Amino acid sequence: MNFPFEKAAAILDKLTENGFEAYVVGGAVRDYLLGRPVHDVDITTSAHPDEIMTLFKRTIPIGIQHGTVAVIYSGRTYEVTTFRSESGYDDFRHPNQVSFESSLEKDLMRRDFTINALAMDRTGQIIDLFGGQDDMKKKRLRTVGCAEERIAEDPLRMMRGIRFVAELDFSLGEAERLAFSKNFALLKKISIERIDQEMNKLLAGAAATDAIRLLFDTGCIYVLPCLNHASADQCLFSVRFSVLISDAERWAAFLESLGIRYMFGFAQAWKWPASRRKDVGRLLEYDGNYAQFSWDRLSVYDAGPELAKAVERLETALGKAETDCLKQREQRIDNLWRSCPVKSRRELAATGHELIKWSGQKPGPWLSEAIAALEKKIVTGEVPNELGGIESWFRVWQGEQKKQY
Ligand code: ATP
Ligand code: MG
Repeated sequence: MNFPFEKAAAILDKLTENGFEAYVVGGAVRDYLLGRPVHDVDITTSAHPDEIMTLFKRTIPIGIQHGTVAVIYSGRTYEVTTFRSESGYDDFRHPNQVSFESSLEKDLMRRDFTINALAMDRTGQIIDLFGGQDDMKKKRLRTVGCAEERIAEDPLRMMRGIRFVAELDFSLGEAERLAFSKNFALLKKISIERIDQEMNKLLAGAAATDAIRLLFDTGCIYVLPCLNHASADQCLFSVRFSVLISDAERWAAFLESLGIRYMFGFAQAWKWPASRRKDVGRLLEYDGNYAQFSWDRLSVYDAGPELAKAVERLETALGKAETDCLKQREQRIDNLWRSCPVKSRRELAATGHELIKWSGQKPGPWLSEAIAALEKKIVTGEVPNELGGIESWFRVWQGEQKKQY
């Protein structure tokens, strides 16, 4: 077998030329063997961090106490980590002790799942000490060693495991399922930021609904913030996550499928960044009104075409709108957007200055009302976007206002 990680080859060569062992390991080997896109190529080596830093010109000691040095090589960054073992996890987060090891075997033993414990040497040969390739064939996720012990060491592995089930469409091994079911409460010890990261990847996985079912079946879902009352009966396992294209759309579908409409408490408990709060909040708002709603030029302009299309995808995923017509509905939104004479308030041909001049009045609350009214008229095409037409409209508008007050 050839060595497929061409760009990383020089790093392995340099380490081996200097008498060290070096392998590509973890996610890159797994994804390569599964024919999936590879993001990061991590390297494991017998060299110690100081030796790694001496051998390479550009390095960053990103986790030196754990043996990790980032090596920047031909424009890419590789995490190069010394063979290590871990022991004692009293805080359920960090190992009490990290020891550098001289053998690859010890390093592979500390890894979570058999499919993540594969290494590849410079000739392309796979080192598979725990049956990872067999598990790949059987599409099965198993821990390295005793499931219960490995989960008790680091409960995040449960969320990682269910995330891999979602991403790879694998099934969870029997011992693992049992261990998760017995130990799910340990997830409370894990920081919400790390759980959120896994959940985010889980929802993007090809088998997301199977993974959500597994969250219920193992009990893991009940210890996640704001989900202790989640009900498997209410949850729509039929959500079609595959039509959704952004994190916000997937989260909105997940919350909606659990009957969670008011997401602010959830967003706070999960420490969501402001941008996700905003995006999910807006999607759920439209979702709540969808039944009485249809897109026209003004509503597409108000929402913006991206949000409008995201709403259509969300409704399709939730089964409220037809899957077959999604492309046409997206196309219709694009057409409505294209037909808007202006794309934002900045493009209005008249500014506040002109309105003030024509009005003969001082600026006041009337001005923002006038601009909002004008914007509507221009978007719907009732008033042309040029000064003459706007002035005529404004005179009429002003007259009507005077009549009203
Ligand atoms: P991804 O594709 O999301 O990056 P990954 O498996 O590469 O998945 P990383 O978090 O990048 O995940 O970790 C790299 C490797 O480190 C894993 O493949 C695994 O061997 C090991 N690893 C990561 N997290 C844990 C953990 N909590 N317990 C044990 N081993 C872990
Ligand atoms: Mg990785």
